[in-house]
Amino acid sequence: MTDPEAVALHRQAVVVDTHNDLLMLVSRRAADAQAAYFRDHWLPQLRSGGVDVQVLPVFIDDDFRPEGAMRQTLRMIEAGHRIAEGNADSVRLCRAGADVDTALADGCIALVLALEGCEAVGTDVELLRTLARLGIRMVSFTHFGRTALADGSAEDDAGSRLTSAGVAAVTLLEELGVLIDVSHLSAAGTDHVLSLATRPVVASHSSAFTVRAHHRNLTDERLKGIAASGGVVGVNFYYGFIDPDSPTIGRLVDHIEHVASVAGLDHVGLGPDFVKEVYEQLTPRPPRSTSRGCRARSRSPDWRHRPGCRWSPRSCCVAAGPRTASARCSARTGCASSAQSWSSEQHRGNPCAECARPLLLYLVWATSGDQVQQQRSSSAARERMVMAVGPQGGQAFRALPTG
Ligand SMILES: [Zn+2]
Repeated sequence: MTDPEAVALHRQAVVVDTHNDLLMLVSRRAADAQAAYFRDHWLPQLRSGGVDVQVLPVFIDDDFRPEGAMRQTLRMIEAGHRIAEGNADSVRLCRAGADVDTALADGCIALVLALEGCEAVGTDVELLRTLARLGIRMVSFTHFGRTALADGSAEDDAGSRLTSAGVAAVTLLEELGVLIDVSHLSAAGTDHVLSLATRPVVASHSSAFTVRAHHRNLTDERLKGIAASGGVVGVNFYYGFIDPDSPTIGRLVDHIEHVASVAGLDHVGLGPDFVKEVYEQLTPRPPRSTSRGCRARSRSPDWRHRPGCRWSPRSCCVAAGPRTASARCSARTGCASSAQSWSSEQHRGNPCAECARPLLLYLVWATSGDQVQQQRSSSAARERMVMAVGPQGGQAFRALPTG
């Protein structure tokens, strides 16, 4: 993105990303290397993207579920604290809205810890109080599957509402001033939360079901319900939820416009879910090869044999490290990005950081209407994006950390 006016608008705005799984990679580094890894690898990206507030979900992957969930949850929370303590000149871990304001006033990026799924607590809902003391300010009850509190959206066929422990969790989280996040929750569970909630409910990374019928996306009725609660919907950029056949910026804009038109300008935000790098580091895949047999036969330094290799291409050999495939950004038009890999099939819909920057014009706290108007002279896609952003766009997200 080169339009200086758009860049200026972006820089003046408070840009909030309500979902980035970077803690998954940070927490896998040695404890004494985590702060430096964040500073060297993630901080430049957040600065370059103009991100002012970053929500950091604690996501527990299959390796730890369910038995090791609490241990991994604590490790990831600790990683968040280490990031903040080791980079006190650049980022702050925030527990209240006032902390966010102070961090921004000091030129720091505000970090907010969240739970993505509640495997760690089981039915012991009071442990949410403990996790809140450790800094968790936003909680979703599930990932795709079932927890002791609720069903995830992949279990929609079960039609389940919250369990009694889930109902108790709603009450406790509201008492603690911790936001409830319905992204990933089943349809019936989402309706149940909305019927119980007396405080703003958010969807940290969900898109519009009307635009793309996927169980992870929200119907118009649920978008309205979230808006009525005073919450915000952070639109997810993941290609499968946007349009798997044509995962373009234009289609993403369709989602943002739809959420804005149904829920209102004050209730649309950004939850990009830039998960490509996390995915590629945690599940490296063999490089393409035209020859049959084990890829390790190529003797590439990036590949190694497993013991007992029988030269089977898929099951035998694993990558020794992350891939360094050729660069292809999905947004692509004129994109010169060469630093990153864009070849993963699972994540072909993710634009590179540079091309994604105009998308971040969906301000969570917008600046002034005049500046928004100026953007209408820009490209058609950007113009449509600007149409979906009002001077008060997403202001409701101020409800995020509530002390
Ligand atoms: Zn997610």
